Amino acid sequence: MDLKKEGKEYKVESASKKGEFYTVDPYKPSCSCAHFIFRMRKSGGVCKHIIKVRKLLKLE
Ligand SMILES: [Zn+2]
Repeated sequence: MDLKKEGKEYKVESASKKGEFYTVDPYKPSCSCAHFIFRMRKSGGVCKHIIKVRKLLKLE
């Protein structure tokens, strides 16, 4: 899974779709992947993309 920083945003590559990147905000937190939008946002959880960025930033 590739990860890059663009300005204030982080982009994490999709594990299933190569070359497709999700926009991640590790602080809110939010992610543009369907798993987060349709499931995790309601329950207050985080997806693996947010976890990956947070680990990189040593936020958890
Ligand atoms: Zn995600």
